[in-house]
Amino acid sequence: MMRLDKLLAHAGYGSRKDVKKLITSGHIAINGETCTKVGQNVDPDTDQVTYLGEPVNYQEYYYIMLNKPDGIVSATEDREYETVIDWVELDYAHVDLFPVGRLDIDTIGLLLLTNDGQLAHRLTSPRHAVPKRYAAIVEGEITAEAIDQFAAGLDLGDFTSQPAELIVLSYDAESDTSRIEVVITEGKYHQVKRMFEAVDSQVLALQRLAMGPLELDPDLELGEYRELTPAEVAALQ
Ligand code: URA
Repeated sequence: MMRLDKLLAHAGYGSRKDVKKLITSGHIAINGETCTKVGQNVDPDTDQVTYLGEPVNYQEYYYIMLNKPDGIVSATEDREYETVIDWVELDYAHVDLFPVGRLDIDTIGLLLLTNDGQLAHRLTSPRHAVPKRYAAIVEGEITAEAIDQFAAGLDLGDFTSQPAELIVLSYDAESDTSRIEVVITEGKYHQVKRMFEAVDSQVLALQRLAMGPLELDPDLELGEYRELTPAEVAALQ
């Protein structure tokens, strides 16, 4: 059950004050009956709420895949920089979204935004060890020894990383850089960058490709976003 004014506000019909006016002026009906009681309880799953006869599409949870560009921060608020929430604000002003985990300001790629706290917790809690796959350009040529060190766990000073799969895709002698993919099951601050520093390399560009079963949609340009499909949401449950 949910209060009618809350449901309308969450559905994008304005602030609590705005929707109160809609209700008291008789614009809202529940199952065909006009309802002027602001605090009326409704069941979003079974009650049909309408505004001037048009169904109100209420959705409790939102799941948005953002192909995060460089230069915006994975936070809900920031004094200095634009946040990933500001980025989608025009479409989702009425939803209390937050990013699931964090990408550095200069990391691009898959970032999930949601208002589903339980799902976010499952995807980020260390106990669930959800794999996150990244593509990167790193300095130098990656040795077999470095691959073994990633697989064994690296001493990063304050902790030892969990085993991580490092795949070298190519090496470019001219720029002395390697294209790699790496899968980590943790998400500590600057983790991938720190892991490469531990093997005397340096991450030059980092992109997240996947989080658990959720893959970055190759059709999303940098900065674009879309809601997850029902199948993608189901795969995350
Ligand atoms: N590891 C990093 O170093 N940075 C990120 O943004 C994500 C993982």
